[in-house]
Amino acid sequence: MTGIRVADLTYRYGAIAALDAVRFEVDQGAFCALLGPNGAGKSTLFNLLTRLFVPQAGRIEIAGHDLQANPRAALAKLGIVFQQTTLDLDLTVRQNLTYFAALHGLSGRDRARRVDMVLERLDIADRAKQKARTLNGGHKRRTEIARALLHDPAVLLLDEPTVGLDAAARAGITDHVHGLADEGVTVLWATHLADEVRPDDRLIVLHQAKVLADGYANEISGAKPLQQAFLDLTGADA
Ligand code: ADP
Repeated sequence: MTGIRVADLTYRYGAIAALDAVRFEVDQGAFCALLGPNGAGKSTLFNLLTRLFVPQAGRIEIAGHDLQANPRAALAKLGIVFQQTTLDLDLTVRQNLTYFAALHGLSGRDRARRVDMVLERLDIADRAKQKARTLNGGHKRRTEIARALLHDPAVLLLDEPTVGLDAAARAGITDHVHGLADEGVTVLWATHLADEVRPDDRLIVLHQAKVLADGYANEISGAKPLQQAFLDLTGADA
């Protein structure tokens, strides 16, 4: 089963190609890092995957559903964690989740059960009564990941989810999200930091609108540290 399938995806801003015939597949339950320097096209790809933008050419499938032909079914399978915090800071963690679950049409006991489930899954049940404003950065992010899982998506997109977090919180978030992939969620994790990628992660390197490398991180890095392989591929200075 394929979690995400992208075929010949092209998007231009006027004369600037943000994505040029991009093609890749991510298996269901894989953790796939999308690594690219600033300007590579990562945000544009996310905007297309979430249907904020419509492709100028090419196709996207989410958990087997064509996003263009069957957007409702495709988007129902998608969870997303944006780069900017989008929690209501004056509500508690549980209220944030309950409100979002209601937007997904969940109600009553079912809703409470799902909220409890995602709180447990992200290890934040002990924060449920705390106002979002009082959480540290790592717990805010975990709340947002929990929220993205409320409707039990098959595919989870995360756009540079560790921006602004300290090393311990970054490690915690990466561990949790790898755990979700182990449980069968397809993960696409956009980053510009090679040190967030593990040797056995799927890895797609995006640069100047094109896929430069696609495989497992340890295959792509070879004998070099991944950071060096990434700099060599993208032609950046160390
Ligand atoms: P990333 O998220 O990897 O930093 P983006 O998708 O934001 O990459 O950008 C890809 C390319 O498209 C870059 O060259 C960027 O300058 C350009 N771009 C992004 N948004 C716009 C826009 N609204 N108008 C014109 N060019 C844009």
